[in-house]
Amino acid sequence: MTSIKKEFPEGMVPLENSSFTFECHPGVSCFTSCCKDVDLTLYPYDIIRLKNALHEDSEAFMRAHTYLVRGDNPFFPAVKLRLCDDREKTCPFLKVQGCSVYNDRPSACRTYPLERAVDRRSVKGVAGEFYFLTRHDYCLGHQEEKAFKVDTWVRNQRLIEYNTMNALWVEIDTLFGTNPWKGEGEGGEKQQLAFMVCYNIDGFRRFVEEYGLLKQFKIESDFKKRIAKEDGELLKFGFEWLKIVFAGKSSLIAK
Ligand code: SF4
Ligand code: SF4
Repeated sequence: MTSIKKEFPEGMVPLENSSFTFECHPGVSCFTSCCKDVDLTLYPYDIIRLKNALHEDSEAFMRAHTYLVRGDNPFFPAVKLRLCDDREKTCPFLKVQGCSVYNDRPSACRTYPLERAVDRRSVKGVAGEFYFLTRHDYCLGHQEEKAFKVDTWVRNQRLIEYNTMNALWVEIDTLFGTNPWKGEGEGGEKQQLAFMVCYNIDGFRRFVEEYGLLKQFKIESDFKKRIAKEDGELLKFGFEWLKIVFAGKSSLIAK
Protein backbone atom coordinates (compact mmCIF):
# COMPACT_ATOMS: atom_id res chain seq x y z
CA MET A 1 0.00 0.00 0.00
CA THR A 2 1.72 3.12 -1.23
CA SER A 3 0.70 6.46 0.19
CA ILE A 4 0.49 9.40 -2.15
CA LYS A 5 0.39 13.02 -1.19
CA LYS A 6 -0.11 15.08 -4.34
CA GLU A 7 0.17 13.33 -7.68
CA PHE A 8 0.57 9.81 -8.94
CA PRO A 9 4.17 8.69 -9.29
CA GLU A 10 5.48 9.10 -12.83
CA GLY A 11 4.34 6.38 -15.20
CA MET A 12 1.61 5.12 -12.85
CA VAL A 13 -1.91 5.39 -14.20
CA PRO A 14 -4.78 4.37 -11.92
CA LEU A 15 -7.00 1.61 -13.25
CA GLU A 16 -10.28 3.30 -12.33
CA ASN A 17 -13.06 1.50 -14.24
CA SER A 18 -10.98 -0.32 -16.85
CA SER A 19 -10.66 -4.09 -16.77
CA PHE A 20 -7.63 -6.35 -16.75
CA THR A 21 -7.15 -10.06 -17.33
CA PHE A 22 -5.52 -12.16 -14.68
CA GLU A 23 -5.76 -15.50 -12.95
CA CYS A 24 -3.46 -17.24 -10.53
CA HIS A 25 -3.84 -20.97 -9.89
CA PRO A 26 -1.65 -24.04 -9.33
CA GLY A 27 -1.74 -24.76 -13.09
CA VAL A 28 0.36 -21.73 -14.07
CA SER A 29 4.01 -22.65 -14.66
CA CYS A 30 5.15 -19.71 -12.54
CA PHE A 31 3.15 -20.97 -9.54
CA THR A 32 4.73 -19.67 -6.29
CA SER A 33 7.50 -17.73 -8.13
CA CYS A 34 6.19 -14.54 -6.55
CA CYS A 35 6.56 -16.03 -3.04
CA LYS A 36 10.36 -15.91 -3.26
CA ASP A 37 12.69 -12.97 -2.75
CA VAL A 38 9.67 -10.80 -2.05
CA ASP A 39 9.74 -7.41 -0.32
CA LEU A 40 6.63 -7.66 1.81
CA THR A 41 5.45 -4.92 4.16
CA LEU A 42 3.12 -6.13 6.90
CA TYR A 43 0.43 -3.81 8.28
CA PRO A 44 -1.07 -4.16 11.79
CA TYR A 45 -4.09 -6.13 10.60
CA ASP A 46 -1.84 -8.44 8.52
CA ILE A 47 0.06 -9.31 11.71
CA ILE A 48 -3.17 -10.13 13.55
CA ARG A 49 -4.43 -12.41 10.79
CA LEU A 50 -1.11 -14.20 10.39
CA LYS A 51 -0.33 -14.73 14.07
CA ASN A 52 -3.86 -16.05 14.66
CA ALA A 53 -3.59 -18.39 11.66
CA LEU A 54 -0.32 -19.72 13.10
CA HIS A 55 -1.70 -19.78 16.68
CA GLU A 56 1.25 -17.70 17.83
CA ASP A 57 1.47 -14.86 20.33
CA SER A 58 1.93 -11.56 18.48
CA GLU A 59 5.23 -10.83 20.21
CA ALA A 60 6.61 -14.25 19.29
CA PHE A 61 5.35 -13.80 15.74
CA MET A 62 7.08 -10.42 15.42
CA ARG A 63 10.34 -11.86 16.71
CA ALA A 64 10.29 -14.92 14.48
CA HIS A 65 8.92 -13.54 11.23
CA THR A 66 9.57 -9.83 10.92
CA TYR A 67 12.19 -7.11 10.96
CA LEU A 68 11.88 -3.33 11.19
CA VAL A 69 12.92 -0.79 8.58
CA ARG A 70 12.68 2.95 8.12
CA GLY A 71 9.84 3.28 5.61
CA ASP A 72 7.96 6.34 4.34
CA ASN A 73 7.33 7.53 7.91
CA PRO A 74 10.51 9.02 9.43
CA PHE A 75 9.08 8.77 12.96
CA PHE A 76 7.79 5.21 13.08
CA PRO A 77 9.26 1.98 11.72
CA ALA A 78 7.69 -0.17 9.02
CA VAL A 79 7.46 -3.94 9.46
CA LYS A 80 8.74 -6.37 6.84
CA LEU A 81 8.33 -10.12 6.53
CA ARG A 82 11.54 -12.03 7.29
CA LEU A 83 12.23 -14.51 4.48
CA CYS A 84 13.88 -17.91 4.86
CA ASP A 85 17.63 -18.05 4.80
CA ASP A 86 17.70 -20.33 1.74
CA ARG A 87 19.16 -19.57 -1.69
CA GLU A 88 15.80 -18.49 -3.10
CA LYS A 89 14.80 -16.41 -0.06
CA THR A 90 11.50 -18.19 0.20
CA CYS A 91 8.53 -16.85 2.13
CA PRO A 92 8.38 -18.91 5.37
CA PHE A 93 4.70 -19.66 4.72
CA LEU A 94 5.28 -21.22 1.30
CA LYS A 95 4.82 -24.99 1.29
CA VAL A 96 4.96 -27.50 -1.58
CA GLN A 97 1.24 -27.14 -2.25
CA GLY A 98 1.33 -23.33 -2.14
CA CYS A 99 0.60 -20.69 0.48
CA SER A 100 -0.01 -22.32 3.87
CA VAL A 101 -1.73 -19.19 5.23
CA TYR A 102 -3.82 -18.52 2.14
CA ASN A 103 -7.01 -17.52 4.00
CA ASP A 104 -5.01 -15.10 6.11
CA ARG A 105 -2.35 -14.01 3.61
CA PRO A 106 -1.19 -10.40 3.89
CA SER A 107 -2.82 -7.46 2.10
CA ALA A 108 -0.05 -7.17 -0.49
CA CYS A 109 -0.41 -10.86 -1.52
CA ARG A 110 -4.17 -10.44 -1.86
CA THR A 111 -3.93 -7.21 -3.81
CA TYR A 112 -1.33 -8.43 -6.33
CA PRO A 113 -1.18 -7.87 -9.34
CA LEU A 114 -2.72 -4.60 -8.27
CA GLU A 115 -1.05 -2.08 -6.05
CA ARG A 116 -3.18 0.12 -3.84
CA ALA A 117 -2.40 3.75 -3.08
CA VAL A 118 -4.18 5.79 -0.45
CA ASP A 119 -4.43 9.55 -0.55
CA ARG A 120 -3.50 10.69 2.95
CA ARG A 121 -5.61 13.82 2.46
CA SER A 122 -8.84 11.77 2.57
CA VAL A 123 -8.37 8.57 4.48
CA LYS A 124 -11.88 8.02 5.83
CA GLY A 125 -13.26 4.63 4.82
CA VAL A 126 -12.08 3.67 1.35
CA ALA A 127 -12.32 7.17 -0.16
CA GLY A 128 -9.17 8.40 -1.83
CA GLU A 129 -7.87 4.99 -2.83
CA PHE A 130 -6.40 4.17 -6.23
CA TYR A 131 -5.29 0.93 -7.83
CA PHE A 132 -2.50 0.38 -10.33
CA LEU A 133 -1.75 -2.74 -12.35
CA THR A 134 1.77 -4.07 -11.81
CA ARG A 135 3.56 -6.44 -14.15
CA HIS A 136 6.52 -8.69 -13.51
CA ASP A 137 8.05 -10.68 -16.38
CA TYR A 138 7.93 -13.91 -14.41
CA CYS A 139 4.20 -13.61 -13.67
CA LEU A 140 2.16 -15.43 -16.29
CA GLY A 141 -1.18 -14.74 -14.65
CA HIS A 142 -1.65 -11.80 -17.03
CA GLN A 143 -1.91 -14.25 -19.94
CA GLU A 144 -4.99 -15.90 -18.48
CA GLU A 145 -8.40 -14.94 -19.84
CA LYS A 146 -10.43 -14.14 -16.76
CA ALA A 147 -11.33 -10.42 -16.70
CA PHE A 148 -11.68 -8.29 -13.59
CA LYS A 149 -12.30 -4.70 -12.68
CA VAL A 150 -10.95 -3.29 -9.45
CA ASP A 151 -14.19 -3.83 -7.54
CA THR A 152 -14.55 -7.46 -8.65
CA TRP A 153 -10.90 -8.13 -7.81
CA VAL A 154 -11.32 -6.58 -4.36
CA ARG A 155 -14.35 -8.80 -3.69
CA ASN A 156 -12.74 -11.89 -5.21
CA GLN A 157 -9.65 -11.53 -3.00
CA ARG A 158 -11.72 -10.72 0.12
CA LEU A 159 -9.91 -7.45 0.48
CA ILE A 160 -12.70 -5.31 1.89
CA GLU A 161 -11.99 -6.09 5.55
CA TYR A 162 -8.24 -5.62 5.00
CA ASN A 163 -8.77 -2.30 3.18
CA THR A 164 -11.04 -1.04 5.94
CA MET A 165 -8.48 -1.87 8.61
CA ASN A 166 -5.62 -0.52 6.51
CA ALA A 167 -7.48 2.78 6.01
CA LEU A 168 -7.67 3.12 9.80
CA TRP A 169 -3.97 2.33 9.99
CA VAL A 170 -3.10 5.03 7.42
CA GLU A 171 -4.85 7.56 9.64
CA ILE A 172 -2.72 6.47 12.62
CA ASP A 173 0.49 6.29 10.58
CA THR A 174 -0.22 9.82 9.35
CA LEU A 175 -0.58 10.92 12.98
CA PHE A 176 2.75 9.24 13.80
CA GLY A 177 4.23 11.14 10.85
CA THR A 178 3.71 14.38 12.81
CA ASN A 179 6.30 13.19 15.36
CA PRO A 180 3.86 13.14 18.29
CA TRP A 181 6.63 11.93 20.63
CA LYS A 182 8.71 15.07 20.13
CA GLY A 183 11.75 15.23 22.38
CA GLU A 184 11.73 11.49 22.94
CA GLY A 185 14.57 9.63 21.26
CA GLU A 186 14.06 6.82 18.77
CA GLY A 187 12.35 3.84 20.41
CA GLY A 188 11.36 5.89 23.48
CA GLU A 189 8.56 5.01 25.88
CA LYS A 190 5.69 6.61 23.91
CA GLN A 191 6.85 5.09 20.67
CA GLN A 192 7.03 1.69 22.30
CA LEU A 193 3.49 2.11 23.57
CA ALA A 194 2.30 2.98 20.06
CA PHE A 195 4.26 0.04 18.65
CA MET A 196 2.62 -2.34 21.11
CA VAL A 197 -0.88 -1.24 20.08
CA CYS A 198 -0.12 -1.54 16.37
CA TYR A 199 2.05 -4.65 16.24
CA ASN A 200 1.73 -6.59 19.48
CA ILE A 201 -2.00 -6.98 19.95
CA ASP A 202 -1.65 -9.76 22.55
CA GLY A 203 0.62 -7.48 24.60
CA PHE A 204 -1.91 -4.67 24.22
CA ARG A 205 -4.71 -6.98 25.36
CA ARG A 206 -2.76 -7.73 28.54
CA PHE A 207 -2.07 -3.99 28.97
CA VAL A 208 -5.78 -3.14 28.57
CA GLU A 209 -6.69 -5.68 31.23
CA GLU A 210 -3.92 -4.66 33.62
CA TYR A 211 -4.80 -0.94 33.49
CA GLY A 212 -8.59 -1.38 33.15
CA LEU A 213 -8.49 0.73 29.99
CA LEU A 214 -11.95 -0.19 28.74
CA LYS A 215 -13.50 0.93 32.02
CA GLN A 216 -12.16 4.44 31.47
CA PHE A 217 -14.42 5.07 28.44
CA LYS A 218 -18.11 4.88 27.56
CA ILE A 219 -18.10 1.92 25.21
CA GLU A 220 -21.22 0.25 23.81
CA SER A 221 -21.67 -3.27 25.16
CA ASP A 222 -21.69 -4.76 21.64
CA PHE A 223 -18.30 -3.21 20.87
CA LYS A 224 -16.99 -4.41 24.24
CA LYS A 225 -18.05 -7.96 23.42
CA ARG A 226 -16.41 -7.79 20.00
CA ILE A 227 -13.22 -6.41 21.57
CA ALA A 228 -13.17 -9.34 24.00
CA LYS A 229 -13.42 -11.85 21.16
CA GLU A 230 -11.69 -10.30 18.16
CA ASP A 231 -8.19 -8.85 17.90
CA GLY A 232 -9.25 -6.68 14.94
CA GLU A 233 -11.84 -4.95 17.11
CA LEU A 234 -9.28 -4.47 19.87
CA LEU A 235 -7.00 -2.88 17.27
CA LYS A 236 -9.81 -0.45 16.33
CA PHE A 237 -10.13 0.50 20.01
CA GLY A 238 -6.34 0.81 20.24
CA PHE A 239 -6.20 3.17 17.27
CA GLU A 240 -8.86 5.40 18.87
CA TRP A 241 -6.99 5.31 22.16
CA LEU A 242 -3.74 6.32 20.44
CA LYS A 243 -5.57 9.29 18.93
CA ILE A 244 -6.53 10.44 22.43
CA VAL A 245 -3.02 9.90 23.76
CA PHE A 246 -1.21 11.61 20.89
CA ALA A 247 -3.75 14.02 19.36
CA GLY A 248 -6.00 14.70 22.36
CA LYS A 249 -9.23 13.64 20.63
CA SER A 250 -10.93 10.59 19.16
CA SER A 251 -14.34 8.92 19.01
CA LEU A 252 -13.80 7.56 22.55
CA ILE A 253 -15.62 9.37 25.33
CA ALA A 254 -14.04 9.33 28.76
CA LYS A 255 -16.28 8.35 31.69
S1 SF4 B 1 3.83 -15.18 -10.45
FE1 SF4 B 1 1.73 -14.42 -10.87
S2 SF4 B 1 0.58 -16.11 -11.78
FE2 SF4 B 1 2.49 -16.93 -10.94
S3 SF4 B 1 1.91 -17.65 -8.90
FE3 SF4 B 1 2.59 -15.54 -8.64
S4 SF4 B 1 0.77 -14.25 -8.86
FE4 SF4 B 1 0.26 -16.29 -9.62
S1 SF4 C 1 2.13 -15.21 2.49
FE1 SF4 C 1 1.53 -16.79 1.06
S2 SF4 C 1 1.02 -15.70 -0.83
FE2 SF4 C 1 2.18 -14.29 0.43
S3 SF4 C 1 4.32 -14.52 -0.21
FE3 SF4 C 1 3.99 -15.93 1.50
S4 SF4 C 1 3.43 -17.89 0.60
FE4 SF4 C 1 3.18 -16.31 -0.97
